[in-house]
Amino acid sequence: MKWYELRAEDVKEKVNTDFKHGLSKDQVSERLAQFGYNELQEAEKPNMFLLFLEQFKDFMVLVLLAATLVSGLLGEYIDATAIIAIVIINGFLGFFQERKAEKSLEALKELSAPQVMVLRDSNWIKVSSKELVVGDVVKFSSGDRISADVRLIQTNSLEIEESALTGESLPVQKKVEPIMGDKVGIGDQENMAFMGTMVTRGSGVGVVVGTGMKTAMGQIADLLQSAETMVTPLQRKLEQLGKILITVALLLTFLVVLLGVIQGHDLYSMFLAGVSLAVAAIPEGLPAIVTVALSLGVQRMIKNNAIVRKLPAVETLGCASVICSDKTGTMTQNKMTVTHLWSGGKTWNVTGTGYNPVGGFFAGNQEIHPSNVKSIGQLLTFGLLCNNATINKKKKEYVLDGDPTEGALVVSAWKADITRDLLNNQFIIEKEFPFDSSRKMMSVIVRDSNGKRFVVTKGAPDVLIKNSESILWDEKQQFLSDRLKGEVEKAIENLGGQALRTIAVAFKPLGPTQSVYNEIEAETNLIFIGLQGMIDPPRDEVKQAVQECKEAGIRTVMITGDHIVTATAIARQLGILPEGGKVVQGTELSDMTVEELEEIVEDVYVFARVSPEHKLKIVKALQKNGHIVAMTGDGVNDAPAIKASDIGIAMGITGTDVAKEASSLVLLDDNFATIKAAIKEGRNIYENIRKFIRYLLASNVGEILVMLFAMLLALPLPLVPIQILWVNLVTDGLPAMALGLDQAEGDVMRRAPRNPREGVFARGLAWKIISRGFLIGGVTLAAFMIVYYRDPNNLMYAQTIAFATLVMAQLIHVFDCRSDRSVYHRNPFENKYLVFAVLSSILLMLVVIYYPPLQPIFHTTAITLRDWLLILGLSAVPTFLLAGSLLTKKKA
Ligand code: ATP
Repeated sequence: MKWYELRAEDVKEKVNTDFKHGLSKDQVSERLAQFGYNELQEAEKPNMFLLFLEQFKDFMVLVLLAATLVSGLLGEYIDATAIIAIVIINGFLGFFQERKAEKSLEALKELSAPQVMVLRDSNWIKVSSKELVVGDVVKFSSGDRISADVRLIQTNSLEIEESALTGESLPVQKKVEPIMGDKVGIGDQENMAFMGTMVTRGSGVGVVVGTGMKTAMGQIADLLQSAETMVTPLQRKLEQLGKILITVALLLTFLVVLLGVIQGHDLYSMFLAGVSLAVAAIPEGLPAIVTVALSLGVQRMIKNNAIVRKLPAVETLGCASVICSDKTGTMTQNKMTVTHLWSGGKTWNVTGTGYNPVGGFFAGNQEIHPSNVKSIGQLLTFGLLCNNATINKKKKEYVLDGDPTEGALVVSAWKADITRDLLNNQFIIEKEFPFDSSRKMMSVIVRDSNGKRFVVTKGAPDVLIKNSESILWDEKQQFLSDRLKGEVEKAIENLGGQALRTIAVAFKPLGPTQSVYNEIEAETNLIFIGLQGMIDPPRDEVKQAVQECKEAGIRTVMITGDHIVTATAIARQLGILPEGGKVVQGTELSDMTVEELEEIVEDVYVFARVSPEHKLKIVKALQKNGHIVAMTGDGVNDAPAIKASDIGIAMGITGTDVAKEASSLVLLDDNFATIKAAIKEGRNIYENIRKFIRYLLASNVGEILVMLFAMLLALPLPLVPIQILWVNLVTDGLPAMALGLDQAEGDVMRRAPRNPREGVFARGLAWKIISRGFLIGGVTLAAFMIVYYRDPNNLMYAQTIAFATLVMAQLIHVFDCRSDRSVYHRNPFENKYLVFAVLSSILLMLVVIYYPPLQPIFHTTAITLRDWLLILGLSAVPTFLLAGSLLTKKKA
């Protein structure tokens, strides 16, 4: 279908829709049922059974299964069945862990799917892009990603970047008129917007003509199916480390078998013991547990309103040393209310709160009606004319639809009885030049009922004043002399000093047929009318969050488009700007090289009146100084800085699709305090991963050493294969998972950020693993030897004692793993999962030892009470002995 050839009216007929009311609910469900969701097909997923089988592809597991089969054939049915059962249970556990990790990653993808504004049953609503159908009327603006193929019916300076389809990175100017021609390539279909392209400027309305695989993107979708898998640096490091650990474990196991055979043990039983030991000691489950810990942490973050889009960010979060954050909406509430008006050297106060349009205008103590003062009437009227926000009354509450800055202007006008309905009867908007953060202005071309035309501009006052040549003063138009300019600047400083955000309004008349081609023509030679000053109160929680970040060694830097005085006042209120801290303006930044910025950036706490382009420079300078930078943003132009930063953060509410796609973290509530919470979670997740790595590896070291020492000392096997496998399944598995869910240590936000280059085993972890592993192995062997020499004829009893000591030593040691310092630093009952895991492990151990039908399977026999004292005494040694010695070291 050549949609570009058709007139908008014909398109409407063809797709059976209504431009005014959109589709109805019924039409949408019918079309969804018939044509399906607006999704690109994904590569087929491997089948579940195959995924399950994957769990057994490990070489050592296969050897174990083969060995078991042999022992089964030789008549050792009980052993063989038990071993196979344990291997299968282990496989199931691994399988479920992987599924869980995968599922939560999928859920994440869903959460970050783009939303679209669509006209349905006469209302503009937001729906997930996959619910679009042919015939839907959609609108989009700068920063949106187009979600289907759309024939445009209305454009407003609309430009779209189509490189995803055409490879051309220069944006294309869009229009609505039909295009004739036989072969019009995608790049030339200027009245179409295609799925996967992005709006870089302006806004537009269109009707969906293609969805899912029936879009231009769908045709080439096969090329796009290389879904990137998300592996974090830690996971990659662990994979490499895993290979080393496997080799070491295999070598040691081989040594155990060799020594055993030399000492006269029979080859067959040594072989089975060796293979079991290898299966138990190889931490093959480590990557899966890491993924689970990461994804569980990610879910906790979602509960705290932070969505992780790129898994590696979870780790990087813990390294962040600087947060560069927007002010408006992130540190402040973005609920603006005009409280001051200024024009011609006079100031009026405006009363009332929020978006409720009730309030009065006061000059000093005297109430006045703005209709009696021409300049104030114009200031309010023009503030509303050049404005896209609406305030609607919903259930007694006044609700804003649109930009809060503009909402405040709607309300201030309303308080003077100037409403949009009123203006619609008097004025027609001919053209709009939308606001953008680089220009810091917005303009409209307006015609009034007498046919008079003029430009109305509103924007940052310091910019507008530069573009004005006269000013309304004493109700007359006067040349904007240096003196009057000075008066305006004084007024801006005065309002800004009260932490008010200021918007200036200006205008200029146009001839009846005078054309205005671009915003530069529109926004020069203006007549300055006055200022509206609005409060935007800081969010309550931000001050404390800034303070907590400071204690955590993280500096907060405010980057804002707002005026320097306003920014400084708010930064002081929030504790961001310390005594002696520097404030730098966008204009100064433009004149600086990255190197020059590098020199001063450590002292700068506020960047004011910056354009999005400046953010990249700031990120680079900070990174050159060795910082790990978190950078927030919301607009299209923020994307490069978000991408270049170490942790790109996009706003969930006000952020554009483009900013979100560039980011690794999205704040659902746009709140600065959420960044702090995410950093805390990021630090905790990393520490938890270290905790269970420490636990698992120390346990494995213990298991190998007890066997190795026994063989060196020419002792019988202290543990039988099935016991080793049981320990691997129960004692290692459950508590390790529970450690992944551990609470943050109290001081996690009082430490310096982690050095991103530090290895997994940094900060003494390797020493802890080896020393605790040695002790666990040592006490197990000691218990075994004491009981064995007491009664050498009862080997099974001594093996049961060794088994119980190994289990108990690990289960006590797990509490030590919760702290980097020692077991005394944390309340052992705090982590309920861990207490539960440890109690269940103990219970299962008791069942295996005391339940007669299981005794022959696990080669166990009941232990006497007196020997339990021995077991408990010895198994407490690794944890308490070293903790004690560390404590004394600390005190010294
Ligand atoms: P932050 O970067 O912290 O979010 P900001 O929202 O103030 O700060 P911008 O949106 O770039 O940053 O706004 C810069 C300036 O442009 C504002 O201080 C204001 O004076 C002006 N401004 C903001 N919104 C509009 C608008 N809709 N129309 C005209 N001018 C605006």
